[in-house]
Amino acid sequence: MLNCELNASVQHSFANAEDKLRHYKGEMGKTFDIGLERLTGGVGFPVGVDARARNLAAATEIPGAGRGTFFLETFGCQMNDHDSEKVAGVLLSRGYTQVESPESASLILYNTCSIREKAAQKVFSRLGEFGLKQDEGRIIGVLGCVAQQEGEEIFKRAPWVSLVCGSASYSKLPELVAQVEAGNQRVTGLDTDTDETFETPVTRRDNPWRAYLTIIEGCDKACSYCVVPYTRGPERSRASDSILREVRQLADLGYSEVQLLGQTVNSYADPTARKMRFSELLLAVADAPGIRRVRFTTSHPRDFTQDIVDAIDAQPKLCNHVHLPVQSGSTRVLRAMQRTYSREEYLEKIAMIRGARRPISITTDIIVGFPGETDEDLAETLSLLDVVRYDAIFSFKYSPRPHTPSLAMRDVISEDEKSRRLAVLQEKQREIQTARHSTMVGEAFELLVGGKSRRENQWSGHTSCHRVINFSSQETALLGKYVQVRVTGATPNSLVGEEAP
Ligand code: SAM
Ligand code: SF4
Repeated sequence: MLNCELNASVQHSFANAEDKLRHYKGEMGKTFDIGLERLTGGVGFPVGVDARARNLAAATEIPGAGRGTFFLETFGCQMNDHDSEKVAGVLLSRGYTQVESPESASLILYNTCSIREKAAQKVFSRLGEFGLKQDEGRIIGVLGCVAQQEGEEIFKRAPWVSLVCGSASYSKLPELVAQVEAGNQRVTGLDTDTDETFETPVTRRDNPWRAYLTIIEGCDKACSYCVVPYTRGPERSRASDSILREVRQLADLGYSEVQLLGQTVNSYADPTARKMRFSELLLAVADAPGIRRVRFTTSHPRDFTQDIVDAIDAQPKLCNHVHLPVQSGSTRVLRAMQRTYSREEYLEKIAMIRGARRPISITTDIIVGFPGETDEDLAETLSLLDVVRYDAIFSFKYSPRPHTPSLAMRDVISEDEKSRRLAVLQEKQREIQTARHSTMVGEAFELLVGGKSRRENQWSGHTSCHRVINFSSQETALLGKYVQVRVTGATPNSLVGEEAP
């Protein structure tokens, strides 16, 4: 383990709530806000936060700022977002200042995603843009999954890159950055045989109320389509005492919601003598004074057990939302995907969640067009949607990835056919969401307010079940507060409401 056990957050410094309000902009228009939609290639800073405000705040708080400037663009999932928060923390603590454009940076970093081909391509097009400007003396680095996947090949494709570091080697990032600063033109961090998790003394968080916290890194599952075990290395769980210490610090800094992250978060295995189960950890995190909401994502169906549902039932601070990717409704396809469960076993997990005393919203990920998927297999996935009636789905066309077993599978489905199947699936879910949303009109929810619209008196926030509701209120300072909102209108993709008296 790293010796820097004490994690602190760079706190945003605002004179008052009005000041904060001016600096943070809204996350309007999305109904379900679990961030996974950004897997399709969302870039830059998380929605809801004004990057300039963060940079100014950070630059004024880190001693020695001005040594250099860095620009960091993030592609991919919440884990990448959070890794970027830690990378920014490492650089800020070395005296760098974060800037908003690559043009004004001396160090340009791309934290990349390679889950699907399109996401990986985006990075190379970004690097191409900077090939033209290599004479300007900037240092360019590629971090994350594309770095791990492509390794030193990146130096060949983009010779102006000096740093290539996969996420499994992030714990070495401070040394690697020091080597680049010392003038080394080809610095790599590509080991995956590590038992370290990526903890830094300083994490610069993007959101002042909701904090991400990685509790398990890497993945030991071997889904035949997925590049993550290759790019992120084996599962490594963080010590429970270190997690709880950081949660208490976050609460002291004013964070009221924490989201525990991991590719398979519920496969958490406490490496300390305490051997806390995942459900015990959830309850312990919720017990931290000041914490009002605890979320976790992503859960793997195989390791989803009754004690997690019991914990949600017992502790209202545990959010009533479970993201449980199914990938396919056909046992035949699930076997080919090496998902380790059948349709029936997955439905048993759903029944377990539906058996909870409080309603728990359920979301999922689905891949269409996996090699060999037939019309009958697709029909099984569609019928699974009818049975489960998910609150939201994140659906993807199968994308062949390097180093994965499914790459060699036959019966490849054409891109046009994948698009057709995706449209059919999404239309089915649209019908389900339309029906679900219409039943919510008139219901009241507690929201954590996270965004303010440019329109007068318009705000947005998310519920415990992680729906985003856009609402009106005459109040002028709601950001970061919890309010009751009654739903007044619904479309398949959005909910609107007004603050309840
Ligand atoms: N660990 C999580 C799980 O077990 O489901 C998922 C993590 S993965 C980063 C997020 C989602 O990307 C997956 O659930 C899957 O639906 C999708 N995905 C992964 N590999 C893919 C591929 N090769 N093509 C299309 N979608 C893929
Ligand atoms: Fe990829 Fe499967 Fe691991 Fe999820 S569980 S990260 S889909 S290998």
